Amino acid sequence: MTDTAVQAAPFDLEKIRADFPVLKQMVHGKPLVYLDNAATTQKPWAVIDRVHKFDSEEYGTVRRGAYFLSEGSTRMYDEARKKVAGLLGTPDPNEIIFTSGTTQAINLVAHSFGKAFVKEGDEIIISNIEHHANTVPWQVCCEERGAKLKVIPVNDRGELILEEYEKLLNPRTKIVAVNHVSNALGTVNPIRQIIEMAHKVGARVLIDGAQSTPHMQLDVKALDCDFYTFSGHKMYGPSGIGGLYGRMELLKEMPPYVTGGDMIQQVTIEKTTYNPPPSRFEAGTPPISQVIGLGAAVDYLQGLGLDKIADYEHSLLEYGTRKLSEIPEIRIIGTAREKASILSFVSDVIHPHDVVTLLDQDGIACRGGHHCAQPTMQRYQVPATTRASVSFYNKYEELDALAESLRKAIKLFS
Ligand code: PMP
Repeated sequence: MTDTAVQAAPFDLEKIRADFPVLKQMVHGKPLVYLDNAATTQKPWAVIDRVHKFDSEEYGTVRRGAYFLSEGSTRMYDEARKKVAGLLGTPDPNEIIFTSGTTQAINLVAHSFGKAFVKEGDEIIISNIEHHANTVPWQVCCEERGAKLKVIPVNDRGELILEEYEKLLNPRTKIVAVNHVSNALGTVNPIRQIIEMAHKVGARVLIDGAQSTPHMQLDVKALDCDFYTFSGHKMYGPSGIGGLYGRMELLKEMPPYVTGGDMIQQVTIEKTTYNPPPSRFEAGTPPISQVIGLGAAVDYLQGLGLDKIADYEHSLLEYGTRKLSEIPEIRIIGTAREKASILSFVSDVIHPHDVVTLLDQDGIACRGGHHCAQPTMQRYQVPATTRASVSFYNKYEELDALAESLRKAIKLFS
C-alpha cells in the first residue's frame, strides 16, 4: 500500500490518465505501467485528434500554394511555431527552427556554427554525462575544423564539477554543449551558471533540452543561452519533429546545414542566395502534420502547467528513489542533489537486460542498456543500467509495482 505522506497529484490524475488511451491496456495480463518516458512519451487524445483532424480535413502543403488548404496549413504551421516559442520563452518565433528532433538540431549547430565560428586550435567543451547526440557531432566538428574536444568531469553523485569546468574555459573555447537533464542519470545541471561562466570567456552555449522540455518551466531568454534543443516525441507530441531555439544574431551569421527548396531567396545556375532564419534552416517540405501535433502537445503541457508537472514528478521521483533504496541488492546510479524524472540503477545479482524482460512480464515498461551514453557508463564502470523514468501520468502505485517486481526478479536470480 502506498505511503500516505506523499504529495497528491495537483490535478485529477484519473482524468489525465484517461486522456492517454494507450495507458488503459493490459500487458501480459497486468495493467500497463509505462516507465520509459525518457525514451519517448505517450500521446494524449488532444494530440491524436488534432493530427487526425488536420490529416483528414485540413492538410495541404505549407508556404507555397495560394489556395484555401495551403493557406490554412501555412497559418497553422506558423501558429505552432509561435506556441513552441512561447513554451521556450522567446518572443520571436523566428528563433525556433523545426528539425526532426534534438539529434538533428545539434548536428545543425555543430555543422553550421562550426563552419562559421570554429577554427583550427579552438576548443569545444561537452560533459562526461552527455547523450551520444551531444557528443558525436562535436567530435566530428573538432575533427573537421582541427579543434579540440574537452570534457567536464562529474563527481560520484553525477554532478558536473564546476571548478574543473572553470579550468577548461579560456578564450579559445568557442562553444559549450551540455544537457539540461541527463538522460542516463537524471541530473539537472546548473545551466544558468554554466552559461554565465562560458559567456565570460566569449564562448557560446548549446543546451540539449531533450529531457527538460517536458518536465519544467523554461525561459531561454532569462537563461541567456544561445541554443536550446527539444524533441517532440519526448513532449507528448509526434515523433519526427523537434527543433532548436537559436539566438537570432547567431542564426543570421550561420550558413545553411541542408540545402534545397524552400530555403532560398534566388537561385541561378551560378549562385544562390538564402532566406533569413528560420527558413534558411528548413529546406524541403517539412513534417507538416507532426508540427501541428507538436503545437497541440504544447497546448496540453501548458494547460496542465509546467510548474505543477515538475512538482508532482519530483514527488514521484523521490518516492521511487525511496522504494528502490529499500532493496539491498539495488544500487542507484546518479544521486545528484538536483534530479528530474529519471531513476537509473544496477544490481550485482541480475543484468539490466534480464531485469527489463522480467519487468515486462509484469506489464512494466522500463529501459535497460547504455542509454546512448556510453561515456557515462564508463565513468561509473557499469556496462548498462535499468532506467525507470516518470511522467505526470504515473502513479505512486506504479512505483510500488516496480519495486515489487524487482524484488521478485532479484529473488529469482539469487
Ligand atoms: N539528448 C538527450 C539527453 C536525450 O535523452 C535524447 C533522446 N534519448 C537525445 C538527445 C536524442 O533525441 P532524439 O532521439 O529525439 O533526436
